[in-house]
Amino acid sequence: MNKADSERMAGILERIGYSIAPSELEADLVLYNTCTIRNNAEQKVYSYLGRQARRKKVLPHLKLIVAGCVAQQEGESLLRRVPEIDLIMGPQHANRLETLLMQVENGQQVVATEEQYILEDLTTARRDSKTCAWVNVIYGCNERCTYCVVPSVRGKEQSRSPEVIRLEIENLAALSFKEITLLGQNIDAYGRDLPGITKEGRRENTLTDLLYYIHDVKGIERIRFATSHPRYFTNRLIKACAELPKVCEHFHIPFQSGDNEILKAMGRGYTIEKYRKIIENIRSLIPNASISADVIVGFPGESEMQFNQTLSVIEDIGFDQVNTAAYSPRPNTPASNWPDQLPEEIKVDRLKELNCLVEAIAKKRNTRYKDLTEEVLAEGFNPKNKNQLMGRTRTNRLVFFSKEGPKGCIYKAGDLVALKIQEVRSFSLSGTPLR
Ligand code: SAH
Ligand code: SF4
Repeated sequence: MNKADSERMAGILERIGYSIAPSELEADLVLYNTCTIRNNAEQKVYSYLGRQARRKKVLPHLKLIVAGCVAQQEGESLLRRVPEIDLIMGPQHANRLETLLMQVENGQQVVATEEQYILEDLTTARRDSKTCAWVNVIYGCNERCTYCVVPSVRGKEQSRSPEVIRLEIENLAALSFKEITLLGQNIDAYGRDLPGITKEGRRENTLTDLLYYIHDVKGIERIRFATSHPRYFTNRLIKACAELPKVCEHFHIPFQSGDNEILKAMGRGYTIEKYRKIIENIRSLIPNASISADVIVGFPGESEMQFNQTLSVIEDIGFDQVNTAAYSPRPNTPASNWPDQLPEEIKVDRLKELNCLVEAIAKKRNTRYKDLTEEVLAEGFNPKNKNQLMGRTRTNRLVFFSKEGPKGCIYKAGDLVALKIQEVRSFSLSGTPLR
C-alpha cells in the first residue's frame, strides 16, 4: 500500500517538473513516505530526518516533506521535533501533493492530516515496474483489530468505483503492463460503501463482482489481490478464482494467531476453525494454490501454550510463506494499554522459533515445484546476476532463470516464459527456459 502511495506521489512530482536526484543528499526536495505499523519502522524516519534537517541549515531552499502514516499519527508534534519540515501530509492527502506544495512555495509550513475524501488520480503514478502494477480498490479500514494502528492513520473505508478501477487497468494494459494486484487493507470489504443490491438481495460490487468485471481487460495476463480477511472471505470468491483464468492461484490470508482466545482479544472476529475451513475450501477447488499469511507473536497475555497453537497451525496448514512480527505496542490502540505485556526477550525468542519453522515448512512446500514446468512472468534482471531474469510463478514463488532460451531466444521483462524448475530453496526457485 505504501509503495503504491509512493508511486502516485512520485508521479505527481514528475508531472510538475521534478526528476530523480542521484542521491537523497543531493536532492532539492526530499519526501519520506513513512510507515508506523511497528515501532522500528517509525523510528527509522527520525534518523533520516535529522540528517536532512542539518542539510537544510546550509541549504534553505531544500523542501522537506514527511508523508504517510507517521505524518498522520504525529501531525504537528513532528514539527516540534523537527521544525525544519515544510510539509506533513497523511496518506489520505497523497493525491493532493501538488496543491500542498504550492502552499509551501507561498512560504507556509503545512500540516495536512484532516480526514479527507480521496481524490481520483488516474494518470500520474510513476510505476517502479513496467510489468506489474498496484491498483488500489479500497482505501482505509473499518476494522478495529486491537493491536493495529492502520484504522487511525488511514481512516475510514473508501471504495473506488468499478468503472474507475477498470479504466486504470485499461490504461495499464495500453502501457504493456501484464500483471495487476488489487489492493486494500481488508480487500473483502470492497464495495460495502458503494450503492447497489442485486435482484437476489445480495450486495453488488463485492470483490468477487469486481474480479468478473475487470477480468477481460485485454493485455492483462495476471490478476492478484491482497489482503484477504478471514472474517469476510467468501466461498463465492474462491469459486471466482477457480473459474477466472487470469486470477492467480495465490491467497494471502493473515490469521495472526492460532489461538481462539488471542484471536478474540485481537478483535479479529473469526475462530481458527473457521480459518482452517477456508483453507480447506480453497484447496478442494484449487489444489495447487499457494497460501501465505501474517502472524503476530507475543501479543499481550500470550502464553507458551497459545504460542504453540500458532506453531501447530503453521505446521498443519503448510504455508508457502508467512510474514511474521513480534507484537509492537502502537499509539492509540487498545492492546497497547493492557497490563499483561510480554517482555521483549520472550517476544524475540518466539519470533526466532516461529521463523525457523516458517522457513522449514516453506522449503518443504517448495519441493513440490522440482522438475515441474511453470509459467513465469519475467519482471526484470536478477540484481546479483545480469545474465539472469527474475519473475514469479502464478502462485507467487520467486524464480531466477537464464535470460537466454535453448534456441538463442533472449527473454526480457514482460515475457511469459515456460520454465523447468531445477532448484528449490525456502523462498525462491531456479529454472531453465524450455523454449
Ligand atoms: N490489513 C491487513 C494487514 C495490515 S498490517 C490485515 O488485516 O491482515 C500488516 C501486518 O502487520 C498485519 O497483518 C500484522 O500481522 C502486522 N501488524 C499490525 N500491527 C502490528 C503490531 N502492532 N505489532 C506487530 N505486528 C503488527
Ligand atoms: Fe489493521 Fe485489522 Fe484493519 Fe488489517 S483489518 S488493517 S490488521 S485493523
